[in-house]
Amino acid sequence: MGRLPTKILLRSLILTSLMTSKVFLKPALALLNVLSTSSSPLLNADRNTILNKLLRWTVYNHFCAGTNRQEVSKTVAQIKGIGYQGVILGYSREIVLDPNEKLTRDESGTSTYSDKCYETVEEWKNGTLETLRMVEAGDFLAVKLTGAGPIAVDAMVAKRPMPEVLVKAMDEICSMTDQQGSRLWLDAEQQVLQTGLDNWAIEIMRRHNKTETPLVYNTIQGYLKASKANLDNHIRLAAQEGWSLGIKLVRGAYIEHETRSLIHDAKEETDESYDLIADTMLCRRMPEDLKQLKFPNAALFLATHNAPSAAKAIATHQDRLLAHKPTVLLECGQIQGMADELSCELVQNYERAMEVSSAANISVPKAFKCMAWGSVAECMQYLHRRAIENKGAVERTQHMVNALRQELWRRIIG
Ligand SMILES: Cc1cc2nc3c(=O)[nH]c(=O)nc-3n(C[C@H](O)[C@H](O)[C@H](O)COP(=O)(O)OP(=O)(O)OC[C@H]3O[C@@H](n4cnc5c(N)ncnc54)[C@H](O)[C@@H]3O)c2cc1C
Repeated sequence: MGRLPTKILLRSLILTSLMTSKVFLKPALALLNVLSTSSSPLLNADRNTILNKLLRWTVYNHFCAGTNRQEVSKTVAQIKGIGYQGVILGYSREIVLDPNEKLTRDESGTSTYSDKCYETVEEWKNGTLETLRMVEAGDFLAVKLTGAGPIAVDAMVAKRPMPEVLVKAMDEICSMTDQQGSRLWLDAEQQVLQTGLDNWAIEIMRRHNKTETPLVYNTIQGYLKASKANLDNHIRLAAQEGWSLGIKLVRGAYIEHETRSLIHDAKEETDESYDLIADTMLCRRMPEDLKQLKFPNAALFLATHNAPSAAKAIATHQDRLLAHKPTVLLECGQIQGMADELSCELVQNYERAMEVSSAANISVPKAFKCMAWGSVAECMQYLHRRAIENKGAVERTQHMVNALRQELWRRIIG
């Protein structure tokens, strides 16, 4: 962690220490929940200047990239200056329409989406393209399809095909991403949306993943009991239809809001599921009933703060490369402000490997930092999710505190 600037180290130590304290975390979670859902102007961080400053000094600057292009560019440069090989940037704005603005009736009495709904899709597309322009070749754009508003959300919930207006928007986003030499992933959502979203993701990959390295990645949530079957379905379709498969693997962030029976009963089962999915991709293992098909071109992005999972996957990947066995492109990433001890280790491993090998032959995955940008009020939902995650990972958070303390002590005595 010697590579972290002292200001970040100190802020990280103070915040992460507070997050290991139940006395602090419980009221902080309740407050963030109120701030992310309240419609009162007094509790709106973009209207209340004092609240805005307070949130910026505490959580916002730690977890978010900035409120505008200038601030984001500074954060991205700082992250890359630390040594990360790339960033993943997402736009936090979530559009909430007044239900009265959603539908209009034509002369025959049929309800259709209002012009405002179509404007919302356009605003979302422009915001996403603006985000893309803030990253560079080699970086990822994180796309939240629900941000496109009611036309997207309603069709996703009803598991209908992607509406034409969204197909066009996604085509434009994908082609601009490709031209820039970046890639994009689709963030995973709650289950009520996810089946529809998976179908759309497959359609987008089918249209745009034409080269060996995928342009578009879908997210698989390992905590779901159906996640391995879902992965096998992705593999089957990619193999049969000849497109490349991009998988971003997470454990899943919505355990507190999901139908519990859909999720593995115990954390250990989620861990096993996560590692099995990573292993299936890295070993290019076809589902049992499709052994006659060739595994498709594929890539895996390991999005996790869990060091044992990362170590297992990286070891498998390296073993296969050293034994000249086929595998897939592997990359790793953590969220800004979280698991810096793991991120720094990954960066260091990559740099060490670069010293003895050329970039083309490197057997160590690149390390990325994932961040969101938007005004302080727009990022409240995102910040609330990060706090929930910390609550569920007290042991790991304590590990991070210990690592930060050790580094601070090393600087004091050194
Ligand atoms: C770069 C990046 C991008 C991400 N993008 C998304 C996204 O698009 N969508 C999304 O949903 N999440 C996303 N996440 C969050 C992710 O899903 C996890 O919530 C978070 O990373 C914590 O899991 P972990 O793998 O880091 O490890 P750990 O901290 O070891 O695991 C914690 C996770 O285990 C699971 N878990 C905890 N308790 C139990 C239990 N009792 N039973 C079963 N399972 C349990 C939960 O999924 C919990 O989040 C992202 C994370 C990263 C690092």
